[in-house]
Amino acid sequence: MINLASTIVLFQQASKQVSFPQVAIRDDLVLLWAGRNSRHPGTINITDGKPFGKSQWYGRIMLDGELRIASHWQRENPELCDDIVNLLVAFDEEPLIMLADRNRCAFCGKLLKTRQHQLQGYGSECAKHWQLPEISKGQIELNLGDKK
Ligand SMILES: [Zn+2]
Repeated sequence: MINLASTIVLFQQASKQVSFPQVAIRDDLVLLWAGRNSRHPGTINITDGKPFGKSQWYGRIMLDGELRIASHWQRENPELCDDIVNLLVAFDEEPLIMLADRNRCAFCGKLLKTRQHQLQGYGSECAKHWQLPEISKGQIELNLGDKK
């Protein structure tokens, strides 16, 4: 059994600040918090990020962190399924690394305008809501130095 309890904790913290926490691990892999009025409150739905009604539902992370992949989908797409499970495990272990380096905020989808925000993968407001650290100017220069 795969356990993603750290992801549940991250969403529990965010749910105190945001009504419907969600995170795009990639454009085609989005985690959505199931709210209090849903059938499985506090769990996390895993989808391909398409609009409601058109999206593919991949499965659910249960309250105790247990990953439950939709079995029909797993049978039909075993390789894609493995990829997605690997991404979910990587996000659970190292969320900051999985979010880093993108043009839109992983949480709210807003365009990120500064190099600092692009490198961390989220804006200042979402950093507060999700209780995630912000990188400093000094760290940006270090990162750029590494690439030379
Ligand atoms: Zn944001």
